[in-house]
This record gives sequence, C-alpha cells and structure tokens, in this order.
Amino acid sequence: VITYLDALPRSAELVVVGGGIVGAATAFYASQAGLRPLLLEQRPALCSLTTPASGGGFRLQLNDPLQYQLVRASVELFLDFEARTGQREYDPRVRQCGYLWLTTSEAVAQRQRRQAEAQRAWGLDDVEILPGDEVRERFPFTSPDVLQARFRQGDGTLEPKRVTMGLLTGATVAVKASCTVTGFGITGDAVTSVQTSLGPVSTGTVVIAAGPLSGPVARLAGLHPPIETIRGHKVVLPDVAAVPQDAPLTVDEDTGAMWRPAFGNGAYALFGDLTVAATPPTAEVPVDHAVATRLLDPDGDISVARLTPFWRELWRRNETYWTVQAGQYAVTPDRRPLLGPTAIAGLFLNAGYSGYGVMTGPGGSEHCMNVVTGKVPADANPFRPDRVFADVQRLSDI
Ligand SMILES: Cc1cc2nc3c(=O)[nH]c(=O)nc-3n(C[C@H](O)[C@H](O)[C@H](O)COP(=O)(O)OP(=O)(O)OC[C@H]3O[C@@H](n4cnc5c(N)ncnc54)[C@H](O)[C@@H]3O)c2cc1C
Repeated sequence: VITYLDALPRSAELVVVGGGIVGAATAFYASQAGLRPLLLEQRPALCSLTTPASGGGFRLQLNDPLQYQLVRASVELFLDFEARTGQREYDPRVRQCGYLWLTTSEAVAQRQRRQAEAQRAWGLDDVEILPGDEVRERFPFTSPDVLQARFRQGDGTLEPKRVTMGLLTGATVAVKASCTVTGFGITGDAVTSVQTSLGPVSTGTVVIAAGPLSGPVARLAGLHPPIETIRGHKVVLPDVAAVPQDAPLTVDEDTGAMWRPAFGNGAYALFGDLTVAATPPTAEVPVDHAVATRLLDPDGDISVARLTPFWRELWRRNETYWTVQAGQYAVTPDRRPLLGPTAIAGLFLNAGYSGYGVMTGPGGSEHCMNVVTGKVPADANPFRPDRVFADVQRLSDI
C-alpha cells in the first residue's frame, strides 16, 4: 500500500532516497523486514528517470557469477510477482521470449562457447549455442551472415515501470514526491537526519537509491562512491507491424545494437556502450537523436538491419514513427553494484547497477536490506561499497 503524503513527517524509521525500481525494491524489502520506510523522490512522478528509459530486458545469461546470483533472485520475484508482492494491480508483463545473441565473427563465436561453458559451471545449464543454420531455422528473421548465436529461452522482457509500482504497492510505504534530498544531518559519525527541499526528517537509517544521481547525493554527506555516469539510448517505435511480436530480445553481439518487441505492435531499439566517455550525472539527460538513425538506417554503423534484415524494408517504407529516450548508467569500476554501509553509520548505498539495474535491482535491494538489518554480516557481503576494485571486469554484453 502506498500512502502519498501531503506533508513531510518529522521523523521516519528508514528513509529511501529515490523512487526508481531500486528505491521501490528497497522499500519493498524494508517493509517485508517489518520496517516502515519513507520514500523521497525529487521529481513529481515516481519512476520517471532511468528506469522507464530502460529496455526491460532480464537474463540469467551473464558473464559474472556474482551478478548472476542477484538476477536469479530478481527473476524468482518477477516470475511469481503477484504472490510475492501480494497485489494484483500491476502485472509486470513478463515474457520469457528468450535472449538471442547473434554474431558473424569467429572470435565472438568462440567467446560465446566459453561463456556458455562458464555459465554451466555455475549451474546455468540451459544456454544453447546454435550454429547459423539452426539460428535461421528457429528465427527466420535472421540474416544468412549469422555464424552462431547463444540463446536462452527463460530470459526475456518485462515492463520496469509496472515492476516498480507493483513493488511499492506490495510494500507498506509512505511516499513524498517533489521532495529533493539536499543534505544530511550527521552527529559524530552517524546520520541523524535527512535535509530536504521541504524541511528535515529525523532518522537513523537512510538508503541512497538515487540511480545516476547517487554520487551527488552521497557527496552531500562527504562521500565519494566510485560511480561514473554513462549515457545510453532507447528508440521507441510504437507501431511497427513488421517486427515479429514473438521474437526474443535480439542482440547483435558484434555491434551491441539490440531490439525487442514492445506494446503488442511496436518495438524498442537500443544501444548502450559502457566504454564510452562518462558525462556528468544529471536529472535532465540530453538526447542524442542521431542514435535513432545509427540504429534504424541500414547504412548506420550499429544498424539493427545488419543481422535482422526486415528492418531494412521498414526503413525503406518510412511510415514508422519513433522517439528517442536517454538515460544514464551508474557504472562502477567492476560493473557490480555498491550495496551496503558507508563510512557514516546508518547511511547505506544501493546504487551503481551499471547497465543492469532492472534485472539486478530487486535481488540487489533484497541483499542490501539484509545488510541493513544485519541478516548478512558485513564480511559476507561481496558488494560492500568499500571493496577493493582490483579485478576489473570488462563486460561486452550489456
Ligand atoms: C538506455 C538504457 C537501457 C537499459 N536497459 C536495461 C535493461 O534492459 N535491463 C536492465 O536490467 N537494466 C537496464 N538499464 C539499466 C537500468 O535502467 C538502471 O540500472 C535502473 O533503472 C536504475 O534504477 P534506479 O532506481 O537506481 O535509478 P532511477 O530509475 O534513475 O531512479 C532514481 C531516482 O532517484 C531520484 N533522485 C535522485 N536524486 C534525488 C534527490 N536528491 N532527492 C530525491 N530523489 C532523488 C531520481 O529523481 C530518480 O527518480 C538500462 C539503462 C539505460 C539508460
């Protein structure tokens, strides 16, 4: 149950900063732990920054065993959403349509085989490696140039906004929107209050779940978490009859371009590259409209037509409308989130989900709340924000 507050309360047991999927999941698991969270969101609408800009893809096919644990916990929630959240108002529209990674390169094909083998070693034994002919037989919209694919049917897509609102509805949470956190009251080395644009709230426990703005929010307490913000884009095409609506989320693994069916008659085309230069964290992410033509024009450098040629015809007919959304990935040095305590007692981070916060956010938030409540001891927390980032991963498969 969400209680939308008219006025800010004087005190709260737990304050969650941010009303995207991660803040919602934090409030949900806090509420399950018997706490009464107050969620503060600076924008007039919940879930209106990064989460709705995402592609809504989820997958167990990852190449990081730690992230895999978080996604697995999230997916258990997604697949049993009504029962777990105890609400029926928001159906997350989970589609286990599969995630299909296509390549024309022998080097990438070899990496795919290595990844599938590594995944089998952690217990994920249903990733298929498909030779080109089998790819075309099962997915007739793919190009003769495809050499190989990896595919997992159990992966798929969902609607992140519905997950966010369902989690909040399933929690017992008080929400104050249009309320910006502007500072923290700190006594000794412990947090004692949150300062906001509407006044102070006294509290001993705060979780920062402010997405790409988690760095700036943490800086209000003198902290400098290692989070860089990198822009990604989604092209929204509400009406494209040529896109097979039963298609998997399809990735050109050679370029990083991807697309998925959406809305029953439309599609998303997406591109995100975690290796491009960071841009300053902002609530008003500028849109690079050229991404749409780079993805949709068959001559574009990241064209979705390259390995799924029906997009070529769509471009030629030119009757399709599109808009472009941009969001920022909150990227950490090892691409794993920062979950747990900071140097200030009572102040916790639940941020830095890099390219994966929709699928890892619920599992990560459950873990974070287990750290907050002491269920997971600090030394058993591989995501602790003060960890050493020695083993930097370079994931090529966002
Ligand atoms: C183009 C794109 C595609 C993506 N695709 C996928 C995908 O397919 N699958 C996947 O798992 N992940 C995907 N991601 C990543 C995913 O979207 C993010 O990791 C996730 O949405 C982060 O959620 P969040 O709640 O942390 O952040 P947000 O949704 O940004 O929420 C943070 C909230 O905090 C609020 N806030 C900030 N500062 C303050 C303050 N001072 N006071 C009060 N409130 C504040 C903000 O207004 C905002 O509402 C994608 C990202 C992008 C950009």
